[in-house]
Amino acid sequence: MKLYNTLTRKKENFVPISNEEVTMYSCGPTVYNFAHIGNMRTYIFMDLLRRCLQFEGYTLKGVMNITDVGHLQSDADDGEDKMEKAAKAQNKSPYEIAAYYTKVFNEDLEKLNIQSPEIVAKATDHIDDMINYVVELQKAGYAYETSDGIYFDISKFPKYGQLSRIKLDEQMAGARVEENTEKRNHQDFALWKKAEPTHIMQWESPWGMGFPGWHIECSAMSTKYLGRVFDIHTGGVDHIPIHHENEIAQNEALTKKKSVNYWMHGEFMLVNNGKMSKSLGNTYTITQLEDMGYSPMVFRYFCLNAHYRKKLNFTFEGMEACKKAYNRLLAALYLHKMSDNVAPAEKLEKYKKDYAEAINDDLNVPLALGILFTMTKEEPSKDYFALALEFDKVFGLSLENSQPINEDETKDEIPSEVSDLVNARAEAKANKDWAKADEIRAKITELGYSIKDTKDGAVVSKL
Ligand code: AMP
Ligand code: ZN
Repeated sequence: MKLYNTLTRKKENFVPISNEEVTMYSCGPTVYNFAHIGNMRTYIFMDLLRRCLQFEGYTLKGVMNITDVGHLQSDADDGEDKMEKAAKAQNKSPYEIAAYYTKVFNEDLEKLNIQSPEIVAKATDHIDDMINYVVELQKAGYAYETSDGIYFDISKFPKYGQLSRIKLDEQMAGARVEENTEKRNHQDFALWKKAEPTHIMQWESPWGMGFPGWHIECSAMSTKYLGRVFDIHTGGVDHIPIHHENEIAQNEALTKKKSVNYWMHGEFMLVNNGKMSKSLGNTYTITQLEDMGYSPMVFRYFCLNAHYRKKLNFTFEGMEACKKAYNRLLAALYLHKMSDNVAPAEKLEKYKKDYAEAINDDLNVPLALGILFTMTKEEPSKDYFALALEFDKVFGLSLENSQPINEDETKDEIPSEVSDLVNARAEAKANKDWAKADEIRAKITELGYSIKDTKDGAVVSKL
């Protein structure tokens, strides 16, 4: 299996540390608000990766964090804590805010058929692990104390920037005037922040009352569950330059060697080719899409049509096209499901092989979907339906729900050529000539129509 590694900028053969299980960490949501469809694209990518690994026979130990403290307005430690800001605005406690948005996030995962990783770790449940981690870093000489917190001294870690390939001096050149004059270097980042009395979430620590930095959360929780060296780390591309560089610095300061073998990043979702942001009013949630008549499966299908390393532009025209295509796919599969025909073994083998090649080539899911579409055009056979369900272990598109096309799309006129065939098929069925009936059904499909037998006779609709 080949996976693209951001660290080396190459597709590499995937070789896990242990044959027993693959260890994988995914940066999870900051639960101060509803996750938008861009966020969900990143979790669909995580899910596809998990499913491809499972399809290849690997057992997974996946960890995803839930950030419920410490993520400040800017990823580079400036501004208010996102949780506390939301709590103030809604007149609730940050814990209530976290519980509510975590619940909605989990519902979104379920709607989108995203498997929850084996371990979901809440930051506030791991404060002691984070404190211990910072103590270790301090002992090892990588951290120093200022009046407002404990910072990582990046001048002690000359490899800083290896993931984003930005040289430290280049970063320095573009740096803003530093507000925090006690920091030794501009990119030094907070491991622990000392809390003002008004800060709601705060814990005792060797440095007084305070709360963890966002980056230490991921290092503490990933290494706690997966060990100091693990296989795969995922996140969105926005995490490459700060968050993941900082995780690497924190991890490797202690391990003195590579701590994550494969770094994988999902590209962004755009809206009308631009940035998706709450202030522009162009973010949508899965629930909003549902209210507009787009099922979560249509959104998942939309995401699967683009490779995870390509930007994906969200438009409603695109969603409309996906809605139609997804329904066509379900209707085409329905014909296979209802058929008793046996498919030629060589054809089944070929589809299986092409499919496996696609998903093993750095998760080429769009290509794998194309292979599924080609297969549905074969003469109907229950074997193709069974194979489609096998493929769906990665797609996660609920293909078992295959059904004839929607009622409202059946209103088009049926050409006489098709209705003649429908009558001929009814006649063949009456004569118990099943082979002929199936043959006629295949012709009907070829003409772009599906046929469903009901107690009131056959119902024909456009594919
Ligand atoms: P957050 O809750 O802000 O920490 O973000 C959760 C995840 O969504 C992170 O892995 C981000 O990289 C990712 N993300 C944020 N915006 C987008 C977007 N427009 N498209 C895809 N992923 C995104
Ligand atoms: Zn993270």
